[in-house]
Amino acid sequence: MSYIKIDSSNFKHNLSLISKQIGGIEKLFVVLKDNAYGHGIIQMAKLSKDIGAKQAAVKTVKEALEIKEYFPYILVLSDIPKEKIDGIGVAINDIENISKIPKKSLVELKVDTGMHRNGILIEELSDALKLIKKRGLQLRGVYSHFRSADELTSEFFWQRENFKKVKTKTKEICKKLNIDVPYFHSHNSAAIFRNNNFEDDFARSGISIYGYHYLPSPLPNPPLKPVLSLWAQKLSTRELKKGQRVGYGGVFEAKRDMIVSTYDIGYGDGFFRYDGLRDLKIANNKKILGRVSMDSMSIECEDDEICIFDDATYLAKYFNTITYEIITNLSPHIKRIII
Ligand SMILES: *Cc1c(COP(=O)(O)O)cnc(C)c1O
Repeated sequence: MSYIKIDSSNFKHNLSLISKQIGGIEKLFVVLKDNAYGHGIIQMAKLSKDIGAKQAAVKTVKEALEIKEYFPYILVLSDIPKEKIDGIGVAINDIENISKIPKKSLVELKVDTGMHRNGILIEELSDALKLIKKRGLQLRGVYSHFRSADELTSEFFWQRENFKKVKTKTKEICKKLNIDVPYFHSHNSAAIFRNNNFEDDFARSGISIYGYHYLPSPLPNPPLKPVLSLWAQKLSTRELKKGQRVGYGGVFEAKRDMIVSTYDIGYGDGFFRYDGLRDLKIANNKKILGRVSMDSMSIECEDDEICIFDDATYLAKYFNTITYEIITNLSPHIKRIII
């Protein structure tokens, strides 16, 4: 059966680079949403805890409950629980949501500083904080998200200025309302490595804990190491005679006699459905022959086991997407093995 290898020493290496940028692992939210970007949420939660991470961010309440035992605190980014749950913070993405959150819950208020995706407006801060107090919610954090931290433009800087305003204003309002000043956080992976003067209380890193970053030169090029590799096992081997074709549509034609094996990964496992038309090299310079099927692919190779990829960068470029999508798509049914 195919499987995913998780390299725990690479993961540790990445967490240590990130912690250095922000001044300690206790300031880090490991972002474990979407099955820990395809790496396996339970496995990555356990590893994060062992390395010293104290907080995680996930998308849903279900995810938070799955990993609750590993962290004193988990932030749920896009879901509202039915009742208050100790140790779980609920993100407020819209002022309308405040009335839907169970009383006494820990909450984190998302403020829109320029991405215009979700979060309250800066002008709504005062009203939102009053509503939070009125409903008896416990304000733990105020946070924001950068839309272009990975681009070589001034965007990051004006958004950071907006977040500074949010901090000042929040502190003023909290004082007036007599509520505790919350923690502030705004940096994702790209922002963490872009900014050498980290001033927030916490940062949230997803893609970089898994070994990838998106900063173009001359911005910093942190030596992160990919954590995940995808491995497939041989289903069958045959000799393909010159002129014979392999797979759906017979897209690949052998230009010479060759030994071809079929391996047990396909688009049903979350690998892209390569159409066999342009050259797609995978790990160790191997080539996929013809179309990828739902559960298999053909490769000129006889090995019992083969690495499909140990760095998603090349695949992301090939498929005109980002590494996030390549790794997040990997099916949760594939076994994860930690080394
Ligand atoms: C997914 C997510 C992150 C992590 O972003 P990366 O670019 O993967 O570091 C941080 N904050 C929020 C709100 C997110 O949704």
